[in-house]
Amino acid sequence: MMFSERMKRLLSYTPGEQPQDRKYLKLNTNENPYPPSPLIKSVLDRFDIERLRLYPDPQCGRLREKLSLRYGLSKNQVFVANGSDEALSFCFYAFFGSEKGKLLFPQITYSFFPVYCSFYNIAYDAVPLNDDFTIDVGKYVEKIGCGVILPNPNAPTGIGLPLEKLAYLLDNYPKERVVVIDEAYVDFGAESAVGLIHKYPNLAVVRTFSKSMGLAGLRLGFVLASETLVSALFTVKDSFNSYPVDTLSQMIGETALSDEAYYRAITKEIISVRKDFSAALLDLGWSVLPSSSNFIFTRKSGLSGEEIYSNLKKQGILVRYFDLEPIKQFVRITIGKKEDMQRVLKTIKEF
Ligand code: PMP
Repeated sequence: MMFSERMKRLLSYTPGEQPQDRKYLKLNTNENPYPPSPLIKSVLDRFDIERLRLYPDPQCGRLREKLSLRYGLSKNQVFVANGSDEALSFCFYAFFGSEKGKLLFPQITYSFFPVYCSFYNIAYDAVPLNDDFTIDVGKYVEKIGCGVILPNPNAPTGIGLPLEKLAYLLDNYPKERVVVIDEAYVDFGAESAVGLIHKYPNLAVVRTFSKSMGLAGLRLGFVLASETLVSALFTVKDSFNSYPVDTLSQMIGETALSDEAYYRAITKEIISVRKDFSAALLDLGWSVLPSSSNFIFTRKSGLSGEEIYSNLKKQGILVRYFDLEPIKQFVRITIGKKEDMQRVLKTIKEF
């Protein structure tokens, strides 16, 4: 047998389609419809390829410095990774373990969480959502377990968790257990937990450059937390790959951070298109969950999520559905440009 027992037990993640066969309007993986900051182009034009002869900075010093200034933390409270998926994976490895009980996360959430549990052999308890798909933090306080991980806003529902509920969870949760908040979509309207880091040394906030910064192809994510938690993440990284973030990514990340005005403008536009698109769907008799992200979760009675997905795909529009109760009726639609969403509306009117 060529494989380890460990390998045979793995349950792997299915990423959203990235089709190469024809041109689709891609509204299935929550990418930003706008290009990243135009400053990046001039930095790349001036880049001396001689620098690629050397290994990148394993500490991502300059990028961490910039991130620390942006978020009002010290550099030692910032960890950078190859996409937030890698950052999350390191968090699972460093903070969660079955010897302390089961890991708690919502029953409907980012589907990579159970995959990391399988990879690291962490037992978990998928905590049901309320009937309106919101998260009840009281259930997490009751169960405790070995730690908590929540996306805010949650995915794929897009619903944000108010900061006071998160503070309630942290106030009532054991200080020696870690709470990880995955803020992949927070810039699109949810309340960030970054301001709570100074108060709760057991809180880790995971962020990405893939969504609001329009850099999904770059693979850059980071964690903001107490120095103790960040230093554990460095230990995990250095036990796995000392150079996960390449020279170009570090440089592009720094440049993107220096163009706040550009990002503020495109984020504002996405939020405004989301509001108009949600209102138009409601007018057409669709149900739409209240979204604080760059996607909406929606359903139309009489149609399954798969049917909506297939009908749209035939017309060259890709969205995502989940073959999973209780969200089988829903599709998740990424917010694109105004004209993209008008095309979606026109297409669904013809169903
Ligand atoms: N968290 C959530 C909730 C996501 O939806 C995604 C995107 N699939 C990620 C994290 C990972 O993003 P990335 O690895 O591109 O930073």
